[in-house]
Amino acid sequence: MKMILLGPPAAGKGTQSAFLSEYYNIPAISTGNIIRNNISEGTELGTKAKGYIDEGKLVPDELIIDLVLNRLKEDDCKNGYILDGFPRTVAQAEALKDNNVNIDKVVEIVAQDEEIVKRISGRRNCKDCGAIYNTHDMPSKAGDKCEKCGGELLQRADDTEETVRKRLAVYHQETQPVSDYYAAMGNLVTIISQDKVEDTTAAMWKALGVN
Ligand code: AMP
Repeated sequence: MKMILLGPPAAGKGTQSAFLSEYYNIPAISTGNIIRNNISEGTELGTKAKGYIDEGKLVPDELIIDLVLNRLKEDDCKNGYILDGFPRTVAQAEALKDNNVNIDKVVEIVAQDEEIVKRISGRRNCKDCGAIYNTHDMPSKAGDKCEKCGGELLQRADDTEETVRKRLAVYHQETQPVSDYYAAMGNLVTIISQDKVEDTTAAMWKALGVN
């Protein structure tokens, strides 16, 4: 199963991709996480990407496309994968097609801009395992530590209101055409992000025909 998760920041892509990964037993590949890891490790890619991320802009296609295509050739991808955060431009979607990557299903999770701005202020990520929490509606049972691994919970540097508004503008301009692209190919399902995570999850399983 090869899947793509599309949607604006904080619509729930990271959380749902973890559920999909567990259900289908395939890796969830988050380009945002790959880039952030490169930044913290100080790699050449990280150095080039940092300015874009900090400003809420997309990293240029030429930096990200080969990185993803190479990642998909790794052993753990042989039975499929969930792409979370890629493709974000039509050029990235075309790069998948040109490299004979046939996507089975695209799940788009949509949410209103103002709802996203509200959610972003509460979002926290585990520094160690990447688990996602929200102080408003999905707090860690371990307080300011991760309930899964005990790691420290941090707010992403690009999760400020100012940066998220820029990321939303980029999303509307660059990434929404990607959902039109997959809708035209006939393999897009769209679900509405709900206040409660479990309601979004239920909507996703229903849309995918999984009971
Ligand atoms: P995310 O964690 O998916 O919200 O991504 C965080 C940031 O990483 C984005 O705002 C972009 O700067 C960068 N990024 C992640 N995925 C991509 C992509 N497919 N194309 C370009 N930039 C990306």
